[in-house]
Amino acid sequence: MPPFSASRPEVRQIPIVGVGMKGVFVVGAGPAGMFAARQVALAGYETFIFNRDIRPGGLAQYGIYPLKTKMKSGLRKQFEQTLALPNVHYFGHVQIGAAYDISLAELESFRPAAIIFASGAQGAKQLGLPGEDAGGVYASKDFVYNYNQLESHVARDFSSYRNIAVIGVGNVAIDVARWLLQDKPARYTESVVIVARRGPLEVKFDKKEIEHVEPFISRAGLVAELERVSDRCARAGQDVSPERVIAQYFPHLTDTPTAPTPARLSFRFLSSPKSFVANAEGRVTQMVVAENELVARPDGSISARVTDATANINVDTVLFAIGDKHDPAIGLPMGPEGYATRPVSDANTASFEVWDPAAARPHPGQFVVGWARKASSGLAGLARHDGELGARQALAYVQSAPDPNTLSPLEIHAYLAAEGLRIVDKRDLLLLDRAEQRRGAVIAPNSFHFKEEEEIFKVIDEEKTHKIPSKDPPIAAAD
Ligand SMILES: Cc1cc2nc3c(=O)[nH]c(=O)nc-3n(C[C@H](O)[C@H](O)[C@H](O)COP(=O)(O)OP(=O)(O)OC[C@H]3O[C@@H](n4cnc5c(N)ncnc54)[C@H](O)[C@@H]3O)c2cc1C
Repeated sequence: MPPFSASRPEVRQIPIVGVGMKGVFVVGAGPAGMFAARQVALAGYETFIFNRDIRPGGLAQYGIYPLKTKMKSGLRKQFEQTLALPNVHYFGHVQIGAAYDISLAELESFRPAAIIFASGAQGAKQLGLPGEDAGGVYASKDFVYNYNQLESHVARDFSSYRNIAVIGVGNVAIDVARWLLQDKPARYTESVVIVARRGPLEVKFDKKEIEHVEPFISRAGLVAELERVSDRCARAGQDVSPERVIAQYFPHLTDTPTAPTPARLSFRFLSSPKSFVANAEGRVTQMVVAENELVARPDGSISARVTDATANINVDTVLFAIGDKHDPAIGLPMGPEGYATRPVSDANTASFEVWDPAAARPHPGQFVVGWARKASSGLAGLARHDGELGARQALAYVQSAPDPNTLSPLEIHAYLAAEGLRIVDKRDLLLLDRAEQRRGAVIAPNSFHFKEEEEIFKVIDEEKTHKIPSKDPPIAAAD
């Protein structure tokens, strides 16, 4: 493949010398990407990270709850150590995909020895319901990106008012409820209802997460809801008596809510959203839910069956927290559960190699790791492990592959700059960090002083010309 597309004459003018090396590319800088990059760099290869966001971290930075500061700063420190490795090169604010900054074909034209895709699962599952596009209806991941100050989401409207429905009953649903009830700086929230299509025994949140919002739950209200669905659960063979459910899933629930605010958290089980009603301004005002029956399948699993009975819930904000899906715009072949990987006979064996299902052959030298391999699949530690395992497979491939003469960091930088992209490199990150430090400690849950893209670029530029106080060490150019 020629180094650059023939349709880009201005780019072809950049002298291409190559450096006679096997460079490994990593797309994405969440936990999976950063730990994959570390593994590759420690094996001695030049490692190039291409990241959509300005800062590294992915959901570890912009998803994990703002007040989990210890976990977030611990991960941040490990990412900084990886970036500090001399053979790691960072290209932030570069989104890979045909519809984005650099297409996959252009990335391949930089002649990587292998590409590890760690781009996560950027889409959100939708139900395609009437009125779903009303104002005030959001994917929870976007909402979370907003309150965690991801640059691309800071200035977008994620207004939430008094009465909020959260669809889904996993940890993400609990996180957004916690934010709305407890930590959102503008405290408008009066009620949050968590809507679950199945019953109380199918909740997916962890005990340590629900603990944060239990003070907002009325025990009497929860008991009434359990009684409302108990016959339907009993028909599927389930005992949802309050003693059992509360002991198992809400161990710290007291008789009266202890939160100092009047805001309340409730649950509505066996309910599936059916449609949304909006006012003249286009803002959601009501959610129509169908009542569900619980069905016990022969294999022991439990599913929900929608009935004709419906109920209306008054809301001004709706958050979908029903899972993530992969972004097809990156240009990788899609499989039934995300990007297609080489089929394996044993379901317990992880498959990392990108696979073209139409041609029934692999994409040589291309691998997927973390949530890019399996969407919404667990915590940051698991993504790390997946990134490291995938990197090991990529390294085994690279060791026996011919030397592709990967472009140098400077050549890639020149190409991206010629495309008009504002790249953020390792030095820029250090300058940004220095400017943040100078402003002093940030008060959680707002974790950055500089949040918006233009502001960040301005700060980096100013910092480049800033007279460095003698106690600050000089920051060398990145490459
Ligand atoms: C709301 C929420 C709360 C969570 N809370 C916790 C928690 O408390 N504890 C915990 O351990 N785990 C938590 N997790 C899970 C954890 O965040 C994930 O397991 C982990 O971040 C997944 O890592 P990843 O690297 O696969 O993907 P991500 O973290 O999503 O990283 C993807 C990376 O790819 C980049 N990218 C995306 N598209 C492109 C593109 N086209 N081109 C270039 N780069 C691209 C992104 O910028 C990002 O850097 C939470 C997740 C969510 C959603």
